[in-house]
Amino acid sequence: MQHKVIQMPADKRIALIAHDNMKQELIDWSRQNLAQLSRHKLYATGTTGHLLERELQLPLNKLISGPLGGDQQIGAMLVDQQIDMVIFFWDPFEPMPHDPDVKALLRIAAVWNVPVACNRSTADFVIGSALMNQSHDYRVPDYNAYIQQRTS
Ligand code: PGA
Repeated sequence: MQHKVIQMPADKRIALIAHDNMKQELIDWSRQNLAQLSRHKLYATGTTGHLLERELQLPLNKLISGPLGGDQQIGAMLVDQQIDMVIFFWDPFEPMPHDPDVKALLRIAAVWNVPVACNRSTADFVIGSALMNQSHDYRVPDYNAYIQQRTS
């Protein structure tokens, strides 16, 4: 796979997602990091987004609920470089009906080199990074080179 370098903006587009047993953890973490989060553009799956808005009065763009396709909507956005990072507190103890969607989101984030924090510790490191408030060059798959290689 050939890659190219693109620029992540200083104002990040952050997706917030939490499974039901992890929602309180995400609310607590978001409250703790409210000042930093409010500098960026926020997206969330439906239920997570409603709860964050209600608890923290945090303006965010709400997608559809995860089990109804919200994880896939976020996956599609990060393929188009419309999401720069994902804070995803998924539940390691409960099987989910939309487990294939969860796996798909994690896989596509790996493909597109998008940072994903799956627990609070990682989220602390991500939000505390100096890169949060500056533009950042990073590598993504070079689709033109890929399609050329596959069709030549
Ligand atoms: P929810 O979706 O925010 O609508 O609960 C999260 C998920 O289960 O992926």
